[in-house]
Amino acid sequence: MSTNKSVACKMQLLSKGIAIDDSVIQNYDQDFIEKRSAYGIQDPSKYLALRVPQELIIMPDELVCAININPKSNTVLKYDIGKREYYVESDTFTCVVTFPKRPLFYSKQLQSDPSTRVNQIISMYGGHCVGAFLVRNCWFEKNGVCHFCSLCNNHGNRNDFYNIINSDVLVESIEIALQEEYPITQIILNGGNLASLNDNFEFYAERITAVRIMLDRNKRTDVELHLIVSPPKDFEKIEALRNLNIKVAMNTEVYDDNLFEKYCPGKSKHIGHGHLFNALRKAVDVVGTENVFSILVGGLEPIDSLTWGISSMIADGIIPVINVLHIDPDTLMNSDQHPSFEYIMEAGRLLQKAYTQLSPTFRPFYLNCGRNSLDTEAYRKLFY
Ligand code: SF4
Repeated sequence: MSTNKSVACKMQLLSKGIAIDDSVIQNYDQDFIEKRSAYGIQDPSKYLALRVPQELIIMPDELVCAININPKSNTVLKYDIGKREYYVESDTFTCVVTFPKRPLFYSKQLQSDPSTRVNQIISMYGGHCVGAFLVRNCWFEKNGVCHFCSLCNNHGNRNDFYNIINSDVLVESIEIALQEEYPITQIILNGGNLASLNDNFEFYAERITAVRIMLDRNKRTDVELHLIVSPPKDFEKIEALRNLNIKVAMNTEVYDDNLFEKYCPGKSKHIGHGHLFNALRKAVDVVGTENVFSILVGGLEPIDSLTWGISSMIADGIIPVINVLHIDPDTLMNSDQHPSFEYIMEAGRLLQKAYTQLSPTFRPFYLNCGRNSLDTEAYRKLFY
């Protein structure tokens, strides 16, 4: 069976990045959402002042894919003025694409502080997910930064996002977003780490609890609530998530212990794989099976250890997610190789096989919104 064309297009883009033709820069429709970067910057500096798309929706399968700009890529986003159609063109394929609509709440202000726009607090991801990056610094940046982390390239005056978001402002912003007719299906809270693992966990638990109370008050049972957080030192703190009806991710990043130490020296020293896996198992006990996830960065380790990582997580009731490594400017990896198309396809097949072992009610972490993630495609069994 030949590879699904939309999947091939996404995997090619995740491997090589995308070049943007001038026809897109000149014609990118104001009704489509523009790229905003609450955390890392993926693009060369000349694109930061331009209005460029944030992600693609690859047709006809409606796959969400990151726009990681690489002017040297042989896969190019273009605009056909006559047909009023955007498409991605490479040596081997052409795919029609579109983009998520720009939500009205991007231009609204907070009632509690009219000098603040809602999109300084929250962003749309993949057209379906409201994301909030609650702390735009991370203690590990100066204490063993993860080599792929691009948080550091987005400090200072490069954008207007809040550095630290409190519960009141967060809840107000999300509530404004949810009032709009927009296909929001999930909310994800994440961000950098505070110095103390226990204080850090409490910080995030407080905010996710506040959002849950707001969703319940508004009877928004249609919106899933997700948290990405580092494990606390004291596992009893995880009990704060019980009965919140959330999905939680604590990210392993790399399964191979030696490569974890190499690529995530701070996390390896101050958290450690053993502690992380014990916390994930505790989280399964607290928030339930198929509600606990862990992201592996696809491209940091050989397929063999990725395979071991996926099976070991599944055996413990932890759901693996693969986000493909993107090589961002001004990171410790900025001269490293991108993962190959073949590696990414193999990683997708592994994830797909793992997901077939889950229950019929299982839903992936980034359902229909993962820009760099393979989980929706694996869940939809599009890798073959
Ligand atoms: S934990 Fe690592 S990847 Fe995450 S924000 Fe901190 S330094 Fe960056």
